[in-house]
Amino acid sequence: MAGLAIAALGAAGLVMRYAFLPMGGGAATGLLIGMVVGGYRMWANNRPAGSSSPPVFALVAGIVTLALMSIGAVWVRPSLRARYVPLVTRTLPSLSVDLPDWFAEKLDKQPEAGSAKFADPDGGGRFLEVRWNVSNPTDSSMFVSIYRSLGASLVSSRPATVGGHPGETLFMAAQGGSKLSCITYWHCPEDRRVIQVACFLDMSIADLTLFHQRILSTVKCHTLGKAGRPKVNLPKFDPPAGFYAMAQSNPVISAFVRGDQEYVVFTVATPGKELEAALGPDGSRRITVMKAECSLATLEEKQPVQQVQGALGHSRSLWLGVGSDGTGGKVRIALVNWHCDRRDLSFLGYHVSDPGQSIDQAVRAMLNARCHGTGPDGAP
Ligand SMILES: [Zn+2]
Ligand SMILES: [Zn+2]
Repeated sequence: MAGLAIAALGAAGLVMRYAFLPMGGGAATGLLIGMVVGGYRMWANNRPAGSSSPPVFALVAGIVTLALMSIGAVWVRPSLRARYVPLVTRTLPSLSVDLPDWFAEKLDKQPEAGSAKFADPDGGGRFLEVRWNVSNPTDSSMFVSIYRSLGASLVSSRPATVGGHPGETLFMAAQGGSKLSCITYWHCPEDRRVIQVACFLDMSIADLTLFHQRILSTVKCHTLGKAGRPKVNLPKFDPPAGFYAMAQSNPVISAFVRGDQEYVVFTVATPGKELEAALGPDGSRRITVMKAECSLATLEEKQPVQQVQGALGHSRSLWLGVGSDGTGGKVRIALVNWHCDRRDLSFLGYHVSDPGQSIDQAVRAMLNARCHGTGPDGAP
């Protein structure tokens, strides 16, 4: 009977292991299978004298049952995980959130902009991601267009409250897929940042909602207070004649206007070279970004990305496009972006004008905008 008990213990252990623990790590599986086989042998060898040997089909039936139970355990695991996987507190720049204790593939340190990515040890391309960047409040259109460019579409959205701030949760499905991923974004006015928490876990909507909500309920933002408030780095722009600086009601851009049809905007600089990577080498992602930024109905490339030598020795990328605002009005966009190696910051500015207008003077001034100098932290 002791043998039978050992075999049952091994079987229960196998099912539990596949229900709760990540795949891989063959040692535990090997040990549990050993318990099942060893227990069966003990039982067979120590049977009472005179009784017949247990038929082999009992062993085969036992193995088949066990295999089916293990497959079932793997199948229900996402639900079990959504409810019971333990979370540990992750401290990120001016932000903390409880997440599963998964390997951090990326863990940025700058509070101005960055991301952290945690990979599911089960693999399958599943991961959790937190992103933050100094920004104005944003709406879902930017996220939806980015996901669309990645082949996913919006399934549903709902309001969310995170860290005391209002936000929104978007559920997305890959084309033709029934499993969902979701992203919640919100604006933290204290830190002037947009923060996103995304679950790319390929779960059913019920499990995903449960799991995502467990994580969101632990978020604390603007944890560094006033002293640790992320810096807003903007370049120094000497506008050509006729431009004047627009009132600084918005702390994370600097904007200049000439007449009523022409303006120059610089958005807050972001650490490192992630901006370059996000924009890519050609115009396609620039179109996505600028359509959202300028609320354009259409935008097409007018000239491919060129490298131009600007002030302070930096090579800068210049891209031109022409779009429409949906009411028939045409606009020309000139986008300039560059990396400043002296401060390890990436800068982005754009010029919006009527397509018939000469843009040389304004674009030249943007290419000469100063990103570093002798100010605090190397500011111009
Ligand atoms: Zn906050
Ligand atoms: Zn510079």
